[in-house]
Amino acid sequence: SILFFLGMAEAEEYIKYKDPNQPINARIKDLMSRMTLAEKIGQMAQIERKAATPQIMRDYSIGSILSEGGSAPAPEASAAMWVDMMNEFQRGSVSSRLGIPMIYGIDAVHGNNNVYNATIFPHNIGLGATREPDLVKRIGAATALEVRATGIPYVFAPCIAVCRDPRWGRCFESYSEDHRVVQAMTDVILGLQGDVPQNYGKGFPFVAGEKKVAACAKHFVGDGGTQNGINENDTIIDRHGLLSIHMPAYHDSILKGVSTVMISFSSWNGVKMHANRELITGFLKNKLRFKGFVISDWRGIDKITSPPGANYTYSVEAGISAGIDMVMVPFDYGRFIGNLTFLVENNFIPMSRIDDAVRRILRVKFMLGLFEKPLVDLSLADELGKKEHRELAREAVRKSLVLLKNEDQLLPLPKKASRILVAGSHADNLGYQCGGWTIEWQGLSGRITAGTTILEAIQSAVHPETEVVFSENPDAEFINSNDFSYAIVVVGEHPYAETEGDSLNLTIAAPGPSTIETVCGGSAGVKCVVVLVTGRPVVIEPYVSMIDALVAAWLPGTEGQGVADVLFGDYGFTGKLPRTWFRSVEQLPMNVGDAHYDPLFPFGFGLTTTETAGIREAAADSDGEVGISYR
Ligand code: BGC
Repeated sequence: SILFFLGMAEAEEYIKYKDPNQPINARIKDLMSRMTLAEKIGQMAQIERKAATPQIMRDYSIGSILSEGGSAPAPEASAAMWVDMMNEFQRGSVSSRLGIPMIYGIDAVHGNNNVYNATIFPHNIGLGATREPDLVKRIGAATALEVRATGIPYVFAPCIAVCRDPRWGRCFESYSEDHRVVQAMTDVILGLQGDVPQNYGKGFPFVAGEKKVAACAKHFVGDGGTQNGINENDTIIDRHGLLSIHMPAYHDSILKGVSTVMISFSSWNGVKMHANRELITGFLKNKLRFKGFVISDWRGIDKITSPPGANYTYSVEAGISAGIDMVMVPFDYGRFIGNLTFLVENNFIPMSRIDDAVRRILRVKFMLGLFEKPLVDLSLADELGKKEHRELAREAVRKSLVLLKNEDQLLPLPKKASRILVAGSHADNLGYQCGGWTIEWQGLSGRITAGTTILEAIQSAVHPETEVVFSENPDAEFINSNDFSYAIVVVGEHPYAETEGDSLNLTIAAPGPSTIETVCGGSAGVKCVVVLVTGRPVVIEPYVSMIDALVAAWLPGTEGQGVADVLFGDYGFTGKLPRTWFRSVEQLPMNVGDAHYDPLFPFGFGLTTTETAGIREAAADSDGEVGISYR
């Protein structure tokens, strides 16, 4: 009968790799036995969404898509647009001969910073100041939900760089200059991906289901140690230094089941990391037994030569031979595929290397459940910017603040005062508070998404009878003619990301220094709190004597209330410097443990205040302890 024949047809079409009851290893083996060289090589390419179409995804069996920072313009920066876009590409992928789903990756480095109305958490430097791995783990879990709200299963985070020089434009992406703090903060991976089960195989990637995302520890290795803090530069350090400072957080990340590792643009002692077979294959894969996939950085293999792409065939050979599994191409996929095919067909790259790469990529895809559920929906859309996540971010802001000076115990401030001044370029600028990697790659100025500025937070924190006067850059006459109880000056750096943030002078953006001088150093003698909104320590020594209280707020993100919570004493200051605060840039690089250590404020420094406004106690705690327990 008809039913009998249908039954037969189904039985004949049993496809092992599509069976979720089969172990992942068996599924990988079965799928790989069916794949052509072209299909394998396609899996190794990650292309930019602007280069992708459903047809390209299908015809080239492309493994992955990414959005470069800032390639999520207004219409796409909503959950629905992301979901629609991804499904369109995914339909292309799953209509390919073997139906292998693509994996979409994005930079969600402080919350889902690619979409409007998401919760933006403090950048890593602020989280390092909290010394609280569990907080960072909870932030990882919230970030996973807000990323999944837009359907995305994969993030290029965390950055586990150990920034050794604040002149580096990515210093704010680093939790600390001390590798032990960075190691502890790799707990964020457990939040993003879920807790690794007991007795889980060492080095295997782990993702706990549809509310979690695959993480990416980056940038392997030594990205934070480049000469003079120049981005993508050479990290000159002996093997012991590399292994003891920059490598340990990779060991921790692998123990915590990290799914992928991204290679650094930088070099180690003159050798481009993208071509470093000894460290990628020898150390990361063989010694540390990492079983997830290794991804290149953006045109990272092109940059093996200078100028970039000068000998692309050589770049592909060097990068793939070194152990890179997936290449962030990101545009000219035809050139990448053509070159890699040539290299394999002519035995310059053995088939076993291709199989190793594809096995790792497929393992993450199976782990994520992409074969079972390739298309995404808006079922988690309510997670985006939800109240609980904003509360969590506010808690993180509170704990990230470091109190550097508190003359006559000015802090905490009384909520009830007749008239107070809030001044400074960064007092009422949400974009500045968020820094780089927010909505756009380089960050933005102004009301760029939902959130609360520090000024707004102060306005709602004070007693209703307190008059809050805001003046971005007041002149002396204005200050003298008003009878201010005290002033809060919020100044800092303008947003930046990557090389654009490299700086030799590390100054506060104009007119910040003159705002400090006018408000804090003026003849009115108004009591003065300075709040710094910066991605790193900046030049402050010349002004310290005129400032009564000094607070490092780092790049706090969208929840400015966290700053007011602590300024007005609802919570105490508890943050500890995650980095050394220099006196002058001539001292750089300078890190804790250096022979000639003469900082303005040492690593680990942070004054404390009690939790109740009115009881004003402050105690120095400058013992330089890392301040977290290690496992
Ligand atoms: C950065 C990476 C980032 C990638 C994708 C690169 O320029 O170095 O950290 O993940 O772009 O946006």
